[in-house]
Amino acid sequence: MIDTHCHIDDPQYAEGLDAFLAEQRQGGVDAILVPGVDKTSVKDVLEVCDRYPDYLFPALGLHPENVKEDWQEQLQVLKAAVDTRMCSAPLNSLPFREGMGVDPLIAIGEIGLDYHWDVTFKEQQQEALREQMRWAEQWHLPVMIHSRDAAEDTLKILREFPTVKGVMHCFSGSHEVAEQVVKMGYYLGIGGVITFKNCKLAEHLVGIPLERLVLETDAPYMAPVPYRGKRNESRWMWYVAERLAEVYNCTAEHINEVTTANAKSLFAIKM
Ligand SMILES: [Zn+2]
Repeated sequence: MIDTHCHIDDPQYAEGLDAFLAEQRQGGVDAILVPGVDKTSVKDVLEVCDRYPDYLFPALGLHPENVKEDWQEQLQVLKAAVDTRMCSAPLNSLPFREGMGVDPLIAIGEIGLDYHWDVTFKEQQQEALREQMRWAEQWHLPVMIHSRDAAEDTLKILREFPTVKGVMHCFSGSHEVAEQVVKMGYYLGIGGVITFKNCKLAEHLVGIPLERLVLETDAPYMAPVPYRGKRNESRWMWYVAERLAEVYNCTAEHINEVTTANAKSLFAIKM
């Protein structure tokens, strides 16, 4: 099982991290992917991932909610960090990186558009997304996309970069949007939301191939039922797998096998 989106650099995990990660491993979690959200993530995300190089895998990016007045400076710092990190990789490992633990960056993310609370920087969000899609293109990296109340604009920009692939993280859109995402060769990141009462996501996935789904937590947020509201844990993705097993009429183990293979393929993880 691979957690494709987990903010393990959140201070809530700082204490007892060794034990916490050992529990996740025992719970069946083989790897955890850790997205960045702004320039402070350069230090936070890379530091924690480098402490557990065969288990935690870093991504860097500017989250759309963090696109404010200083967005260009943020992008400059992040681009320099991405280039430095990627250039430190063995030359023969690019663009098809070999082996776990040697990947300097697993993805560009999380990046995207979020019009939910604030549209003051709508255009800047779009420019920041385009700029970071270019980094993914340049380094042959997948992207972790955050899109909230902005599906149409997000898909429009992603289509401008046909060679880039990625995941629509914390997907909760309509069936129509799910179909479009899949048609573009992207994956849907499914987390605890699918276990929430009154959530329509399960219905929206009917007809969407399991080969296009990956699991995630978005920890510390989005803990599944029966842990809703608690600090999330990667091993609780089994509850997500169980809910998906109902949708796809199979076992949670089968969901695990297929989504793990999907994550390995998208993020070029070999293990
Ligand atoms: Zn996130």
